[in-house]
Amino acid sequence: MAHNFTRNRKHNENNSMKREADSGFSTRAVHEGRGFAGTTGAVMPPIFMTSTFQTGNADGFDYTRSGNPNFRLLEGSVAALEGARFATCFASGVSAITAVVSSLKSGDLVLAEENVYGCTYRLFDKVFAKFGLKVLYVDLSQPANWEEIRRHRPTLVWLESPTNPLLKIVDIAGISAVAAEAGSTVLVDNTFASPYLQRPLELGATMSLSSTTKYINGHSDCLGGIVATNEPAWHERMVFAQKALGLQPSPFDAWLTTRGQRTLALRMERHCANALQLAQWLENRRGVRHVRYPFLPSHPQYELARRQMKAGSGIFIAELDCATEQALAFCRRLRLFTLAESLGGVESLVCHPATMTHASVPPEVRRQVGIGDGLLRFSVGIEDMEDLRRDLDEALNELIG
Ligand SMILES: *Cc1c(COP(=O)(O)O)cnc(C)c1O
Repeated sequence: MAHNFTRNRKHNENNSMKREADSGFSTRAVHEGRGFAGTTGAVMPPIFMTSTFQTGNADGFDYTRSGNPNFRLLEGSVAALEGARFATCFASGVSAITAVVSSLKSGDLVLAEENVYGCTYRLFDKVFAKFGLKVLYVDLSQPANWEEIRRHRPTLVWLESPTNPLLKIVDIAGISAVAAEAGSTVLVDNTFASPYLQRPLELGATMSLSSTTKYINGHSDCLGGIVATNEPAWHERMVFAQKALGLQPSPFDAWLTTRGQRTLALRMERHCANALQLAQWLENRRGVRHVRYPFLPSHPQYELARRQMKAGSGIFIAELDCATEQALAFCRRLRLFTLAESLGGVESLVCHPATMTHASVPPEVRRQVGIGDGLLRFSVGIEDMEDLRRDLDEALNELIG
């Protein structure tokens, strides 16, 4: 199924739509993102480490800032997984966010979920506010607050689901319907779910953005971001931002990410199964105040999560009954969970939001939103579940004495 790419994006688009109609997710993940075999018969694509291309080449490339065969392969495969006509790749998730937000203009309003990713908040607040962008934060997990979309008719509604680190679930279809009436565009940061578990465009959103650094690449060996859409106008803006702002990845990173996404389905199945079992087990342990995971019946939006996602993903949070010092000691005691930021890789990680990702948030605000000193976020890898459980068990036994 290795196909040769042609110069014409429209042609690529039709090809991928045809292929999509007759193959499943895992087949698409493996077979898209090949091509460029040339005359060699190579089963996997080479890495096109070139800054420029000879003018007039049949595939229409000119300079790597505005396109490279490895970008096209990655864009084609992620578009197929998201069920999108188009996708555009960037150097990181933050570059992808920059591409979208820089397409807006001074005076435009973004209505954002209040629990957005920290770097998204920082970009809005410290960079784009200077250029006159307005951002209003509301709790979009409460349908009563969707009224704000009707009232303000924002240019863009920005949401994540599940959110970081609290794993709130936001109703993408419900919000997309309200936004469509208000004439607002909806962007979903789909990083925590990945297109294997949740496809925002099918639920009515206009754009699905991912930090491919996390699940899509899945091996914690490079950064990347991507924006998928069915709207030609938004696609054009993304292509423009990629070259005009210099937000393109390296061909090598695009190649790594294309390789990583081939196993997305298999990895997600293991991430989800491990996380669900660990969360269930931890929920009833002494020393644990509460556990939150989208596919645990105790999750406040369990029903919505079941409707919107295929499984609960690989991340859960647990609040230990202790202060910061002991929570960090617990993390250091773990052998298989590395204390580190990031998530979505094959290896298990643990993060202490109060001193790491959310350290800059004042303690009272942290407590108010539910980020206590004993709160830990686990990114469960694809190791053997029994080993992970034993690791947590030993550290917990030490903590509770
Ligand atoms: C990591 C992350 C980002 C930023 O992506 P980078 O690749 O680190 O730039 C954006 N959104 C979410 C939800 C993330 O987890």
